[in-house]
Amino acid sequence: MSKKQIKVLLVEDNLADARLVNEMLIESGQDNFNFRTVGRLSSALNLLNQEKFDILLLDLNLPDAHGLSGLIEVQTLMPDLPIVVRSGFDDEQLALDAVQSGAQDYLVKGQESGPLLTRALRYAIERKCSEQRLAYLAHYDPLTDLPNRVLFRERLNRAQHRANRHASMIALLFLDLDHFKDINDTLGHDAGDQLLQVVAKRLKNCVRAEDSIAHLGGDEFTIILEDIAHKQDAANIAQKIVEEMAEAFLLNGKDVFVSASIGIAIYPGDGQSPELLIKHADMALYAAKEKGRGNYQFFEEKFNRAVAKRLAMVTFLQHALERDEFVLHYQPQIDPLTKKLLGLEALLRWQHPELGLVLPKDFIHLLEETGLIFSVGEWVLNAVCKQSSIWQAAGLPPTQIAINLSARQFQQVQLAKIIKKILDETGMDPHNLQLEVTESLLISNAEKTISTLCELRDTGIHIVMDDFGTGYSSLNYLHRYPFDTLKIDRSFVQDISGNAETSAIIPAIIALAHSLGLKVIAEGVENEQQLSFLLNLKCEAVQGFLFATPMPSEQCGAWIKNHQEFKEHHTLNAVC
Ligand code: C2E
Ligand code: MG
Ligand code: MG
Repeated sequence: MSKKQIKVLLVEDNLADARLVNEMLIESGQDNFNFRTVGRLSSALNLLNQEKFDILLLDLNLPDAHGLSGLIEVQTLMPDLPIVVRSGFDDEQLALDAVQSGAQDYLVKGQESGPLLTRALRYAIERKCSEQRLAYLAHYDPLTDLPNRVLFRERLNRAQHRANRHASMIALLFLDLDHFKDINDTLGHDAGDQLLQVVAKRLKNCVRAEDSIAHLGGDEFTIILEDIAHKQDAANIAQKIVEEMAEAFLLNGKDVFVSASIGIAIYPGDGQSPELLIKHADMALYAAKEKGRGNYQFFEEKFNRAVAKRLAMVTFLQHALERDEFVLHYQPQIDPLTKKLLGLEALLRWQHPELGLVLPKDFIHLLEETGLIFSVGEWVLNAVCKQSSIWQAAGLPPTQIAINLSARQFQQVQLAKIIKKILDETGMDPHNLQLEVTESLLISNAEKTISTLCELRDTGIHIVMDDFGTGYSSLNYLHRYPFDTLKIDRSFVQDISGNAETSAIIPAIIALAHSLGLKVIAEGVENEQQLSFLLNLKCEAVQGFLFATPMPSEQCGAWIKNHQEFKEHHTLNAVC
């Protein structure tokens, strides 16, 4: 098989020397060299502009260039061309300088031979190739072929300098795919990689050729838009990207829908330095996600205050357990027909030293984000089990108590084991415990979640699907999971009075649940009209302000006692 021809350009003004090199290469006979010679640097540059060469063999002493200046000139104009320099001096320092200035090798005239020259040329080509690969890896992400974090920072710095010179504006866009982790978890990492590649392609279609897109890692992308005239220009591009990302992605032969959230910061208004601009674009991205994902958000000064507040909350939360600041309130669940107490739901509150009683909507997400939910979740279960035995010791009948579990808690490998251990230690009867989970749990790692729930249900614990109807509401999953009860979200219950459409949804949900052998509980029952509507549909349990708000344990104990006495009194009256 013939070897690939290597095109060599020799720059040598001494004709005898040039002939010698040519002869050495022919003699060696190892490679198929295509050899051209010129005598001046200017002629070499002319030729290089017209033709592609594989390597340059450059004399350091030419009529129009002396020393390393010729090398540096070629290197600057043709950074990808491998160069071997030749010199009459056997000078170690000069050789080192040459290599540091970009040459791949330094040969001393008179010490060369055919094989040595051939090898030097081949190695120089290989070395240049490796250098280029390393330079590429240092600045690009090989998966998407986009600039990486390092090159992004360099480009942002350069963009900032240009903007200062021309008094123009830059928009920095931070983009993040919503629920990317779920794609990796459910379809595998290859599908995740494939998705990132298609995202990169779609992004390129949304921006101008001169705009710079980068892949920072994971599912994070950035876009630098230079020379924008108005904020609206950035908004238009962000909107275009959001729409592009909303189109289905074909992964593993399936149509998958993924949305993207975008945060935008404008230079110079939103930050005088690249660091600040990045920080603010990131904050805007966070706000876009909070707003409901699949949209874009410009940076606003108030985000700084929100972040500071969040940070302060997290700092306080980190000590809340040891300072014993968490408390549980209990809300009764009632049989709508007999008004009998069926159970209680334990709802977490945080007694903040400065803010007072904080509700879950203001801190559960922080517990989840920081991972504190694991220890706090264990505390909740422990506290519920202990409270149950306190009430029983006080003569109250054993009552089922429901606790809420975050989807994040299912990432604890040992979740089932931890729950069983706490039940064992506290002597709580598993039949008196209910676990409420939400639909968000069901989208990732289904098999593992199902096996954890089955393991728990086998002990006698009841499993409740909470807030039904607010999440994915896919009916497919209901029969795959070991649910005992379905809890209709209070948004449906609240609509009962007026909204005809919702009033039609509730009967459908109850019929579906009953057909799957599930009991139904409705939460957020606030008036008699809602109660009778649910009663007519044979809803098994109701919970809401109509009966009681969530109460601290002592107050709840008294409520249970009163309720019991009231019921006994009425039953007695009815019998008489
Ligand atoms: P959820 O599990 O759906 O709890 C029911 C929420 O509805 C409670 O809000 C309760 O106070 C409220 N509620 C009950 N009846 C009525 C009513 O008639 N009208 C109205 N407007 N609201 C009613 P809360 O206590 O603020 O809890 C909010 C959410 O926080 C809970 O929703 C649950 O998802 C979460 N949460 C509470 N405690 C815990 C916990 O210990 N762990 C975890 N992971 N989440 C918890
Ligand atoms: Mg609940
Ligand atoms: Mg609920």
